[in-house]
Amino acid sequence: MNSVYIEITNVCNLHCSFCPCGSEPQATRTFMDSKLFDACIAGAQEIGATNVYFHVLGEPTLHPGFVHYVKKLEQTPLKLTLTTNGTTIERTGRQIIASPSVRQVNFSTHAFAELPHETAERYLQNVLDFCQIATVERPDLYINLRLWNVGATEATPWNSYMLNRIRETFGVDVTPGHFCSRHKSFNIAGRLYLHEDTRFEWPSLDERRETKDERGESRTDKHAYLYDRAEQSCTECKDERGESRTDKHAYLYDRAEQSCTECKDERGESREIVPGTCRALDTHVAILHDGRVVACCLDHSGQITLGNINERSLPEIVNSPLAHNIHEGFMQHELRHPFCQTCSFCKRFK
Ligand code: SF4
Ligand code: SF4
Repeated sequence: MNSVYIEITNVCNLHCSFCPCGSEPQATRTFMDSKLFDACIAGAQEIGATNVYFHVLGEPTLHPGFVHYVKKLEQTPLKLTLTTNGTTIERTGRQIIASPSVRQVNFSTHAFAELPHETAERYLQNVLDFCQIATVERPDLYINLRLWNVGATEATPWNSYMLNRIRETFGVDVTPGHFCSRHKSFNIAGRLYLHEDTRFEWPSLDERRETKDERGESRTDKHAYLYDRAEQSCTECKDERGESRTDKHAYLYDRAEQSCTECKDERGESREIVPGTCRALDTHVAILHDGRVVACCLDHSGQITLGNINERSLPEIVNSPLAHNIHEGFMQHELRHPFCQTCSFCKRFK
């Protein structure tokens, strides 16, 4: 485990159509407090991570304590890979460049494609100004200008404009025609890169819930029925015996895990294995703004909540039976959790 995603806020100032951030209820938008942040960076070190991110959803530089949190990292061996939409870089850029804790900055410049052109131009100019200064003052800093919208025809005018601006600013002709699954990164100058990729779809259990069979019949996903029952119990905050629980999911998830290990459903029938693998829980784990620990940075709504760092330590959570079971599945090329079974991102890993 070398990286921990710490969602220091789920607030964002943009509303990209491809991002679930805009559809999150306003009331759930919040900023991680300092005490919880301290627990996150302590936990990251305890599990041996060397790298942290400040996002799952949200724009981390909007956190009022963003600079303070970067400074806290300076008292640890942890390095920050900052992913930002770049809209605040004019204000925050100086501190980012000045901090030795910042190892890499990823700018999500595909987010500008949906903005009014004048606004997008201004934001891009600020990002390019930052890149010019950083390549001189921080030649060790990796910077990616991300265009993760390859194949989205509506983004073509913006992408062309951006490539022109890169050419004008750095005198480099970055030709994206060579894009393929193994060639996504194009050097601009020093450690500054254009990074292209296709859009990915956020995994979602909604469709699966709609087609849920209450009796678990005619299902191809071997665990969904048991996990769905765990979710129902979650709403009621009671276990099967109607008793209130402090760890309200543990009992039902334990049962799901047992069934998983045996690869059978509650009636002892064999279930079909959903093949696939992922690096989550092997190389990384994520902590949401309220302390819920989830398997990966795509699980913004806590569909695979492994525990809460307010209640248990990060090492305990990543070593829980549920985490072990999901991880073991990945090692055996099985997507055991129904949320993972809806994930197209993991198809990138063979
Ligand atoms: S800038 Fe990033 S976090 Fe904000 S809405 Fe767009 S994709 Fe989501
Ligand atoms: S398979 Fe997808 S949803 Fe599951 S942990 Fe991996 S990235 Fe996350």
